[in-house]
Amino acid sequence: MTMAVNIIICSAVILGVVLRAVLGSDVPCTSASGTCQEDNIHCSGSYVSGLCSGHASRRCCMPSGSGGCSNVNIISRSQWGARNPKHVTAMHVPVHEFFIHHTESPSCSSQSECSARVRGIQNYHMDSRGWSDIGYNFLIGEDGKAYEGRAWDRIGAHTYGWNDVAIAFSIMGDYSNKLPNDAALHAVKAMIECGIQLGQITPDYKMYGHRDVRNTECPGDSLYSLINTWDHFDANVPIKPTPRPYRPT
Ligand SMILES: [Zn+2]
Repeated sequence: MTMAVNIIICSAVILGVVLRAVLGSDVPCTSASGTCQEDNIHCSGSYVSGLCSGHASRRCCMPSGSGGCSNVNIISRSQWGARNPKHVTAMHVPVHEFFIHHTESPSCSSQSECSARVRGIQNYHMDSRGWSDIGYNFLIGEDGKAYEGRAWDRIGAHTYGWNDVAIAFSIMGDYSNKLPNDAALHAVKAMIECGIQLGQITPDYKMYGHRDVRNTECPGDSLYSLINTWDHFDANVPIKPTPRPYRPT
């Protein structure tokens, strides 16, 4: 990304903060083609915090394929048939640390197949692991779509010790001996750009694999070797930032 684009994005984020402070308005959301509403109402895209006036549950519904996310098709929780979470915990964004996982289960190549896979993962995480919801922030399918998990600004259950300061995507498949297809890799990169443009991930974020902080093979040898070549991959041992509690605006 060029410096000019970074400056524009930073300016937009700062402008949003200033506008909210001065006007207490919904302009940061509506100017990004979103709608401010209570986040228990159906949203045909995904919810983003920090763009709407009022209390924390009043959030910006960004339609799928809108704003900075026009290069990726986000499948909302209602579209894939999510169960309601047992509880949710808001997370301070933007995050600086970003983790890549694989699900180590079969890959999927259509929305119906991937949706069924995501429902199965949610059931496993909630019923067998006892978590409050599906662990990951988003899941990526080989159909090239991003499936909304906890979404951007909710503390997940994906990377032990880092869940309160990091966002994690999991590519659905086992990438020990093969790479995700191009559609999935494109979706991962487009979703990171989307997260940056929505103010959820810092433009200077650091990328890691799950194995960088945990005794696990995840995200698989092949995928891990690939992300080692990506611009934001950090070969150093990550240093956890001090978690900052979420403060509703
Ligand atoms: Zn993992």
